Amino acid sequence: MSIYANYFPLGLGTCRFPISASDDEEGVEKSVEIVLRALESGVNYIDASYTYSSGMAQTVLRSAFKQTVRPYGVTVKSQYGQDKTSDDARTRVEYQLEKMGVDRAAFFVSWSIMSYEEFEKITQKGGIYDGAVKLKDEGIIDHICFSAHAAPSDIVRVIESGAFEGVTISYSPINSAGMRPVLDAAIKHGVGVAVMNPLGGGLIPQNSDYFSFLRNERDKSAVHAALRYAAAQPAINIVLSGCASIEQLEDSLSAIRGENAEPDEERAARVNSRLKSAMPSFCTGCRYCADSCPKNIPIPEFMQSYNMLRFEPSSLYNRNEPELLKNVHLLRKLVFDFQLLPENAMNPCIRCGQCERKCTQKLSICDALDDIYNRIKLTGCSKEAMKACLEEILDGKAYKKIGLYPSGKPSNMFIELHREFFGEPRFEALCFDSNPLLTGTISSGLAVHAPSDIAKLAPDAIIITSYTHTEAIYNALAKYHEQGVEIIKLYGENDVPWAW
Ligand code: SF4
Ligand code: SF4
Repeated sequence: MSIYANYFPLGLGTCRFPISASDDEEGVEKSVEIVLRALESGVNYIDASYTYSSGMAQTVLRSAFKQTVRPYGVTVKSQYGQDKTSDDARTRVEYQLEKMGVDRAAFFVSWSIMSYEEFEKITQKGGIYDGAVKLKDEGIIDHICFSAHAAPSDIVRVIESGAFEGVTISYSPINSAGMRPVLDAAIKHGVGVAVMNPLGGGLIPQNSDYFSFLRNERDKSAVHAALRYAAAQPAINIVLSGCASIEQLEDSLSAIRGENAEPDEERAARVNSRLKSAMPSFCTGCRYCADSCPKNIPIPEFMQSYNMLRFEPSSLYNRNEPELLKNVHLLRKLVFDFQLLPENAMNPCIRCGQCERKCTQKLSICDALDDIYNRIKLTGCSKEAMKACLEEILDGKAYKKIGLYPSGKPSNMFIELHREFFGEPRFEALCFDSNPLLTGTISSGLAVHAPSDIAKLAPDAIIITSYTHTEAIYNALAKYHEQGVEIIKLYGENDVPWAW
């Protein structure tokens, strides 16, 4: 029986609480109300992390947990990169438990595994997985799980390893064909499944006419139909809904609880049979083309990413310019979901046509690849472009001390890429972050300092690695420019993020 078998089928995601910043008290209060309403309604799986909702999700949970006796199972997370060792994982878990005011958690999640190779690093002796096993032995966590943004074939291998009791994956009608082997493997190996992004990362509500084919005559909306479609899969135990308001929570609850006129099996079969015809020019992820390319281009992954251009792009990362957003959505899928960061912007396709002859949707794959690589070039989304960016920032500058702002993945990546391209940095690297909860913590070996320490630590330059808050941070740091600190934006106006 799955570890999630006794959980309510709707889980509460905590990454979309209506909190604008760590000092947004009103946002915190509203979010506490959402958690309490969810628990009162029977929701009992809570997906939390230390970075969610401006780093305040676990503070919200602490307040909510104090006000209820309702049962719940909450996650704690540790991500490879920020954490590497067994001790790192323990420190990270203790930090989160303390923030939530609890002494144990139901689920340890090895967060966002990107590839099978990363799984192997996590499970090395003395690594994160060892830390989780010790925490479980001590009764601090109940179950060891993982979440993944890896290729489906890699997720299947991780499931088959037998290391984990539960998995969280992205799942919606948009990627359901490609995720079929993952669900099959989960059933076969008795691994519980929770799914995030059941609304395709916002694409389904934003394009509800396009997705109207998901609905039966009694479904209130495409959103309800998509939530019910995910819940209808026998392998899926929990559908996560990231709620920004009580109304959103109630709407998701009514989809899961309300009268469902169609048995699960019939719903899944009906939608599956219509995916191909209802979404023309859409790569279904069927993989018939997968092994046809003499240049080893991962065509299904490129074409599923290209699907993103079929929709009105939703705002992401504080950006609103439509063409940039299209590129962000496309490349987010390619790099984040499929782990395919191109080496450079040269399209390797030789237009032999083998893939197009096999394509079940008769897609113009060669033209699509041309378009994708043009976008890769425009947005600096390749290893070669990142190397050029580092050279431009550092060349001819004798920086002795560089500040990276804020802490987290993009700053870690800056240092890791420097090591990969040019060797160990000759400058001293520091991290700054405005979140007071992170001051004094270590992020990938770098101590995190408060912005008020900038004058005292006197870096020669500060590089803004945040994509979402570039302008706000730039304005906040302007006063240090007057004190001789060079303030550098990592991203140009057409660029997409380095880390997603
Ligand atoms: S047309 Fe291009 S992508 Fe398709 S198989 Fe040939 S080289 Fe590969
Ligand atoms: S055959 Fe066509 S529809 Fe199927 S994965 Fe390949 S590109 Fe996509």
